[in-house]
Order: sequence, then C-alpha cells, then structure tokens
Amino acid sequence: MKKLSGQQISQTWLDFFKERNHSVLPSASLIPFNDPTLLWINSGVAALKQYFDGSKIPSNRRITNVQKCIRTNDIDNVGFTSRHHTFFEMLGNFSVGDYFREEVITWAFEILTSPHYFALPKEKLYFTYLPSDVDTYRLWQKVGVSDDHLIALEGNFWQIGEGPCGPNTEVFFDRGEAYDPQGVGIELLKRDLDNDRYLEIWGIVFSQYNAVDGVDRDQHQELPSKNIDTGAGLERIACVLQETETNFETDLFYRIIEAIACMTSHPYEDHKMAYRVLADHIRTCAFALSDGANFANEGRGYVLRRLLRRAMRFGRKLDIVEPFMYQLVDTVMDIYRDFYPYILEKSDDVKRKMNAEEKRFLKTLLSGEQLLRKHIDEGVTLIEGDVAFKLYDTYGFPLELTIEIAKENGLTVDVKTFNVALEAQRVRARNSRSET
Ligand code: ATP
Ligand code: MG
Repeated sequence: MKKLSGQQISQTWLDFFKERNHSVLPSASLIPFNDPTLLWINSGVAALKQYFDGSKIPSNRRITNVQKCIRTNDIDNVGFTSRHHTFFEMLGNFSVGDYFREEVITWAFEILTSPHYFALPKEKLYFTYLPSDVDTYRLWQKVGVSDDHLIALEGNFWQIGEGPCGPNTEVFFDRGEAYDPQGVGIELLKRDLDNDRYLEIWGIVFSQYNAVDGVDRDQHQELPSKNIDTGAGLERIACVLQETETNFETDLFYRIIEAIACMTSHPYEDHKMAYRVLADHIRTCAFALSDGANFANEGRGYVLRRLLRRAMRFGRKLDIVEPFMYQLVDTVMDIYRDFYPYILEKSDDVKRKMNAEEKRFLKTLLSGEQLLRKHIDEGVTLIEGDVAFKLYDTYGFPLELTIEIAKENGLTVDVKTFNVALEAQRVRARNSRSET
C-alpha cells in the first residue's frame, strides 16, 4: 500500500489514464452549466452529460477527470459514517462509445494493485457484480481476483428512469476486523448492511442498454454506442492509503480539524461529530462560494445557508460563539491551492460573504434557540407547525434545523402545518407583489 497524499492520488489517477490515451479534463464548476434539472454537480459524469446524451461529440472519446461534487442528500451521514461528505472529489475515467468492459476492468485492477500505482493488497479487495453479468465476473477472474472475492448482488444495476442504463460493478476495500466489532465478516457486504469495514471506493457502470418504461430489465435493447462511466471517491482512497480511522484524519481534512481545535477548549477526541460536521460544511461552503454560489432564501443559496447555519449550531456545541467559519477558509484554500489555484483569487470574497452570513444568523440564533428550548421544556412531544414557522420566518431557522434539534430532544415537528403556513406566506408575498 502506497502512502500517498490526496493530491498525489489525484495526480497518479490522471497520469495513469493519460498514459492510456485519455484526455485530462479539469474539474467543472459545482454549479451545473445549462442544466436546470440539477442543483449541484454530484458526480464526475454529471459534468460530462453533454457527451453521454449525445448532444456533443468529445474530441477524444476517452476522458479522465477529478470532479468536485456536492451531495447534500448525504448530509445526515456526515460524521455518523466514516466516509460521507457533502463536498467530495470524484476520480473518474470515461469511455464515450470507445473501450468497454475488458479495458476498464483490466485498468481498474492495475491502478489499484500494481506497485507502480496504489499498491493495494489484492486480498483486501472485493468486487460486486450483477449475478447475470457473467462477463464482468469472468473478467475480474481473468485479471486475478479469486472466487471468494467476487460477490454477486442483485442491486448492481444502474438506471435513472428511461434511457441508457446497465449493470455496474463496485470495488470494496476490507478495512479489517477493527471496523467490524460484531465479527460479521463478508455477510456485511453480501447483505448490504451499513458498515465501516467494507469501504466502497469505486463504482464502474457499463452503460449498454436502453431502458423503456414497462419493459423488464432483461428485455432491454442494447445501445448502439456503449459507454463506461466510473467514479472513485478521493477521500475514501486517501483514507485507505493513509490508513486513517475515517476520511476526516486524512491530509484532505486534518488541518481543518486542527484549525478548529485552536478555536475551542474541547478536544477532537471528545467531540468528533461536531468537528467533522464543521470540517465537512466549511469545505462545501468554501468551494460552492468560490464557484459563484451565494447565500439565499431559495434554491442553491438556501442549501448553502442551511449548511452554514447547521455548522454554526455545531460550533456552539464546542462553545464557539463568535463568527468562525470564515476563519477556516484560509486552511481549506491552503490544502487545495496547488490543485485548484483559482480558489486563492476567490478567498477574500468567500470570507467576506461567509462572515456577513454568520453575523446575520448569530443575531437571531440565540433568541430562536431560546424559543425552541421553551417549548421543549414545556414537555411537549410535538413542535407545532406554527412554532416551526415562526422559527423559520422570524429567526431564520431552516426547517431542517428545527427538525434536527427536535429530534435530539426526542420530539417531532408538525411539518404539514409548517408547510401550510409557508404556502400561505408565499401567497401573501405574491399578492403583495402584484398589487405594487
Ligand atoms: P455510498 O453507497 O457509499 O453512498 P454511492 O453508491 O452513493 O456510495 P456512487 O454514486 O457510486 O456512490 O459514487 C462513486 C464513488 O464516489 C463511491 O464509490 C464513493 O467512493 C464516492 N462517494 C459517493 N458518495 C460520497 C460522499 N457522500 N462522500 C464521499 N465520497 C462519496
Ligand atoms: Mg450514496
């Protein structure tokens, strides 16, 4: 196993595929270009959509990239699992109607196990595949994977509605018994149980069929031009190669953790969750703002607002009460300045926006929390919709924040009534607009 830094992993990846005639594309902005269906770029292939839907022909049908991604639907996993972030980088290699199964599997095995590249011990790697996808099974065998490291899983099929779809194969790294306290072993993987032992590091999709509604999966027609789309998580590979407990102790995160430690008397060891949430959210906010997003009351900007406010609340658990997120921006930029030189130019702007947003929220956070606390202390089991709405409307509490605080105290929130109040407010706003 080669102990590589995050940046060395990215560079190794790009060089490896460049040597195999791929064009190296720079990471696209996190803000999708000309694609209203997507709030954020959330995978390597999302940034290359125009090549995969055929609307543009790439000058080279082999592409490799390291793509910045945001997945806010993983927010609740952050800090709970060792491996999920709201912002992460995805390493990818792609074939737009060029190579297919044999090449991608051979190269995947080579970069993972060869002493020239990541040098992972092959006995720690497991590969899942669709049971009917015999070709994939045979190819992994051919490159040297033994039978007991090949796991057939019915779920290994990638499809989003109609259109291109196909089987996938996933690579898992066995981090050993230390991460499997009950000693369950390979059943964790076979039964798809949530665990930190078998870490999914890479997914490879064989996009070879055309899905049509109402047609069974095994009846799909083959596509005339087949594609390969792969994605490997940089932070997860760093965790494996640097042999850290979670992604948060790798060089991609640890300096942020250290910078947070300088702001509080509570050590990381005792407050891992809060530290990890902060370290995660600061990266997401810093990169999103650098790519031109802004805090706002809706859409993308609202997602950022929620993230920053959530981070600030976790900051309070560490007794950090002053605006602090903006002070972490330099550390994030320092980690990434060599790989993404453009972010340095954005630094002042990002800090200014973040500081202003923190100040704005701090003003109301305290009174909002007091209001919520009052209701919790009254012994209610449900936070009424109108209370949640008041918190949202007057104190700037995103609904998700109220739900989270309520949940920590064993309460639920009447979301339905909240939504009724929200809608009523929207109608009022619309009416007052049309009157002026
Ligand atoms: P998981 O089941 O672990 O959430 P996934 O199936 O959602 O992963 P893919 O959509 O196949 O993952 O993404 C490709 C790769 O990107 C994964 O193998 C993983 O290494 C990485 N990845 C996915 N989601 C995250 C995340 N939230 N944070 C960090 N890395 C991620
Ligand atoms: Mg996922």
